[in-house]
Amino acid sequence: MDPTAPGGTERPSASTRWRCRQCGNLTRFDVLRRARVQEYVHQSLAGEPSVEETTVLEEVVEQVRCRWCGGVGTVELVPRPDAEPTVDRPGPASVRTAGPADATAGGGPEAEQL
Ligand SMILES: [Zn+2]
Repeated sequence: MDPTAPGGTERPSASTRWRCRQCGNLTRFDVLRRARVQEYVHQSLAGEPSVEETTVLEEVVEQVRCRWCGGVGTVELVPRPDAEPTVDRPGPASVRTAGPADATAGGGPEAEQL
């Protein structure tokens, strides 16, 4: 099968999202996805199976259809609005702490302090 088949839409990443270029829909899509999944099935002695671990070996988004206009092949990847390189920012140098003991000198509420 041709992986670059027309209509194929890539999955959004951390910095991209889907958008329908026909109607502008950014939020609702019907996604047809084909996946090959390995499951770790734990079967109880009573015979009740439960999947304890799932490993996706292969995943192909075959079609993304816009829920609003029903467009197929109109959904494209666009950058997210808040897409910015995640900078590992160190915390602020001066951490504001609850003031020293003098704040409670009067024993009353601090509402009138300016
Ligand atoms: Zn649409």
